[in-house]
Amino acid sequence: MPIRIRPARSTTMVTFAAVCVLAPALPAAAAPGAAPAPAPAAPAAAKGGKPGTPGAGDPYFPQEGNGGYDVGHYDLTLNYQPKSNALAATARISARATHDLSRFDLDLKQLSVKSVQVDGKGATFTRKGQELVITPRKSLRKGAHFTVAVVYAGTPKPVNRPDIGRFGWIRTPDGAYVVCEPDGASTWFPSNDHPSDKATYTYRVTVPKGTQVLSNGEPGGESTRGGKTTFVWNERSPMASYLAMLAIGKFTVKKGRTQGGVPVITAVAPNRAGELKTIHEGTIKAIDWEEKVFGDYPFSSTGGIRVGVDVAFSLETQSRPIYGFQPDTATIVHELSHQWFGDSVSVKRWKDIWLNEGFATYAEWLWDEQHGGPTAKKTFDDLYKLPQNSPYYKDLWTARRTGDPGPNELFTLTPYWRGGMTLQALRERIGDKAFFELLKAWTKAHRDGNVTTGQFIALAEKISGRRLDGLFNAWLYTKTKPTRW
Ligand SMILES: [Zn+2]
Repeated sequence: MPIRIRPARSTTMVTFAAVCVLAPALPAAAAPGAAPAPAPAAPAAAKGGKPGTPGAGDPYFPQEGNGGYDVGHYDLTLNYQPKSNALAATARISARATHDLSRFDLDLKQLSVKSVQVDGKGATFTRKGQELVITPRKSLRKGAHFTVAVVYAGTPKPVNRPDIGRFGWIRTPDGAYVVCEPDGASTWFPSNDHPSDKATYTYRVTVPKGTQVLSNGEPGGESTRGGKTTFVWNERSPMASYLAMLAIGKFTVKKGRTQGGVPVITAVAPNRAGELKTIHEGTIKAIDWEEKVFGDYPFSSTGGIRVGVDVAFSLETQSRPIYGFQPDTATIVHELSHQWFGDSVSVKRWKDIWLNEGFATYAEWLWDEQHGGPTAKKTFDDLYKLPQNSPYYKDLWTARRTGDPGPNELFTLTPYWRGGMTLQALRERIGDKAFFELLKAWTKAHRDGNVTTGQFIALAEKISGRRLDGLFNAWLYTKTKPTRW
């Protein structure tokens, strides 16, 4: 989640502050990346089958993702020059056709495509906005496994949205990093850029010697030749494209293990060296506590990366969050709780963003409750009592629906705070025993999967043995302040 908002507390009174502000806007003159590749007016289609759709069917982002295939693995070979921001890359994508497929799309913003092969044979392609439209020589049969190789290059640029700020590929003085929620992965690799199509990843990133590369998952070795170093990283758990992460530059790296035995890799930019200990130790404490409350940690390693520039937000990039500002304990707890809620158990449609942000917010409240701070009930009550003239009143009660906030309002505080309050209301209704059993059952049943709010409600009803549609309707699907639930 790019914009993290949470109640800030003092011991004597509760005040509420948005800790994050929007990132500064890019100059309006930012030019589009690359000239479109030469293209016939209408994309051809191979004989037989039908074209895959240009979107994954998510009304919030009609162009994001694509239909007709399911990606299993991305193998990304990237050559990057920090000085010029020049990227030259090959993406090898292993996928399976979900119907007879005459043509299909990948999402790729701005960068220039040099060639496309499908199963080792040259394929024709066109560019249409962010769609890279690929026509294989022969239709792909339903169920067929196929490989797409895309050779591309350019100078990647971030996306700039008024409600989020800058995201995607972001340059730093000595490198770059990526934070891609919700649709920024396509700023640096061709992808099925929607969380509903999760895949595993291999990264092979070549940079000038002396520059480091960190990513999701585990390091797979590094080798230096001719003044350049290639870093390999592997993410072996299925991952939504927006959680794919690179951090390129100079870093101080610390390795260790949580008490539960999860390997930890923490890295901070040299100008943030003073934050290394706090982030590393905070990560270990948070993961150990979260395993007790949410169930086994879903991935094979963890950690965190503090980039050297201050930006408005941090993001729960899989296994290892990116911190864009000095993280306090609440921020670390929040981002790491997303490893369960959002990264392992991912939304199928963006409107269910409260399944990520409401849960991560509630994780902060629970942490407080179990570490000498206010109870989650107290936080709930303080929010519930906010006066009508509070700057947050409208966001909480009347602006939008928690369970369907709108595509430009995903990261408003409604899915965060009212989402967290929904969980507290549920806890009070079904009792602590069923509630905490539910949290673990949810993360276990849907590990590495995609979910909807309907599935959460069904599981809550099953575990509690109660009918809960009234409660969820009041909290998630009305634009009024719930008074009875
Ligand atoms: Zn979040």
